[in-house]
Amino acid sequence: MREISSGTIQEAVYRAISRMSYHCDSKVTLALSEALNTETNELARDALQSILQNHKLSPETSIPLCQDTGSTVVFAEIGAHFHLTGQSLPELINAAVRRAQKDCPLRASTVADPLFERNNRGDNTPAIIHIEYVEGDKIRLLIAQKGGGAENMSFMKMLSPALGAEGIIDFVCEGVLAAGSRPCPPLILGIGIGSNFEGAPLLAKKALFEPFGRAHPDLRYRQMESEITKRINTLGCGVQGFGGSCTVLATHILQAPCHIASLPVAVNLQCHAHRHSEVII
Ligand code: SF4
Repeated sequence: MREISSGTIQEAVYRAISRMSYHCDSKVTLALSEALNTETNELARDALQSILQNHKLSPETSIPLCQDTGSTVVFAEIGAHFHLTGQSLPELINAAVRRAQKDCPLRASTVADPLFERNNRGDNTPAIIHIEYVEGDKIRLLIAQKGGGAENMSFMKMLSPALGAEGIIDFVCEGVLAAGSRPCPPLILGIGIGSNFEGAPLLAKKALFEPFGRAHPDLRYRQMESEITKRINTLGCGVQGFGGSCTVLATHILQAPCHIASLPVAVNLQCHAHRHSEVII
């Protein structure tokens, strides 16, 4: 059994949140630069230039990438031979979130009750944490700061299996087009296909952590990914809804087994402020 103290992991999570709040995924920045080279719509070009300048200035000035500094989401994979000493995993993650909110500082973005008082908790806790047990003696944490605008426009439906791949592509394209400028395109799409009513959105969220622009290992899903990206980019929404051909930068699908009567499909939208990190200890 390998023992690691909670303090070591808390420090790593704190550093990851602090860093990602000022540094976008460099592959996203590169994709935005490439989009600028091909975009012909003047308003969309202006918006792309502003986004790219923002990506440059944020780390230089220590001003967060976006005023919505996001909610912390963590997927934790804990090895069977890994033993945490001191605080529990949720305690140490929430301590790191509290520290990062205060030190960076990050906007306080979490209300205690979702419906009535909606009092701001003031420290961005609790983080949203998903735990999975795996082989090995390490802990792997996938961490994101997820903005509310793109999250609000995400969607899910239990489709009929008879609709097949084409039905899913139509469903995704219609949903992204209906979202318009509200999720702050250009977007990354995380799509979960299969599992069940609660499982498909988790797959969709986890798909956003896949290396940016990676191709799905299964050719059939890979073709769906590229068809979705291509089709949405012909629909004219464009950067921040200003038109042009750059609404989606990348589409990632994750799939899982499901019930014979079901075809759950969830689409988690991610804006161009793609803040995520991986910690392995
Ligand atoms: S959707 Fe993204 S870019 Fe838009 S306000 Fe939220 S975090 Fe910022």
